[in-house]
Amino acid sequence: MNFRCKTFKMKKPGVNKNASNKFSSNKTKNNKIVAGLEYRLASLLIGMNVVWLALLRYKNPWRAFHLAAKVINTRDQFKTTHPKIAKRANKYYMNLHTPGWPSKAFNRGIHHSFNLVSQSPDISLFSVVFAITNKCGFQCEHCVEWENLNRKDSLSAYDLVTIIRRFHHMGISQVHLSGGEPLNRLDDILFILDSVPEGIDFWVFTNGYNLSAEKAARLKEHGMTGVIISLDHHEQERHDQFRGIRGSYQRALQSAQHVVDSGLLLAFSCCATNEFISMNNLESYASVCREAGASFIQFLEPEAVGHYRQKNVALNKKNKELLEHFFYRLNFDASYSGYPIASYPAMIKRHNGCPASGLHFVYIDADGFVHACPFNKKKLFPASSTILEKNIRSLRETGCSMIEFTSKSKDSAKTLQLHR
Ligand code: SF4
Repeated sequence: MNFRCKTFKMKKPGVNKNASNKFSSNKTKNNKIVAGLEYRLASLLIGMNVVWLALLRYKNPWRAFHLAAKVINTRDQFKTTHPKIAKRANKYYMNLHTPGWPSKAFNRGIHHSFNLVSQSPDISLFSVVFAITNKCGFQCEHCVEWENLNRKDSLSAYDLVTIIRRFHHMGISQVHLSGGEPLNRLDDILFILDSVPEGIDFWVFTNGYNLSAEKAARLKEHGMTGVIISLDHHEQERHDQFRGIRGSYQRALQSAQHVVDSGLLLAFSCCATNEFISMNNLESYASVCREAGASFIQFLEPEAVGHYRQKNVALNKKNKELLEHFFYRLNFDASYSGYPIASYPAMIKRHNGCPASGLHFVYIDADGFVHACPFNKKKLFPASSTILEKNIRSLRETGCSMIEFTSKSKDSAKTLQLHR
């Protein structure tokens, strides 16, 4: 893949002076980013797994190969054909938004892709983001749930499980538990992990303030896949200021240590603002994440909702390009082979159309209402609806009013619309 960008000249990362031109494996504590031969072998086996699932499902070999190839090719559309992969225990993780392979969850995710590429009448989803609580003691600059924070939670632990079970029937293979601060409901999270049928990878998205070694160990023991910790700057003071809580940076890194030590996967999530984005900051940030043992970094763009409502926070063109360039560097440049794998959802959305709105995922708020995505504050229908599939189908057909396409991406967006 050609990822050259003429606009920005990149210097090599300072902490990686001895990087060879070839990709090499690099182990960071318990989490490992693998490249080279092991990456190629894993990719080959994953591809064979997809073909095998297609053969079992479609019987007709030509149709099976055709659809398997289509599914494999969509990886390129989502910019995940980078030459490295995360490994933990005996599973491989292509990116933050794909379940580990081999696993039942991975296979379920592939069946959702088959449904889309074959334009099957069956409605399925890949994942949900579920805000399980409104409670949170932080005052983050960008909080999308700002208006709802610390309102009473209306869903019991049983309600949470019932909702996830319903989406399990729709084929989901990944759940991101968010909030509020989801670890305020740790016991309920453990109850969910114990109660939901097999076939879903669970991640919890936390501010990282209150995750002890003991809590991390319990999450692991009950089947959590990984923890996403919000870290918005590599400088302590800047992060604390952004989060509105002194000491939050140190606590986030301490929690990261517990996550890695417990054997969970670690990801960091960064709200990349115009003030933050510079090549020096991005490089320093990625180095901190690597040193902490992270397998993934998620770059989120600020949106004018919640605490940022009516503020002009959208990234300017230059910063979007710079962040995009860094995304490619981190994932595809040999000098960064041991660095965490980056995701940049807003970029994928701009280029390929939105994966939310019931196409791949939906957002469920702490009152149990489905939204097109976490940034769209319109409550659409209850997740407990008895006509859930019908509602998701309508959502796909309606789409989301917030979508903004680049002119270049309109064709690929149309391709996605075909599957709606
Ligand atoms: S962004 Fe998360 S951690 Fe920050 S105030 Fe909102 S819910 Fe709390």
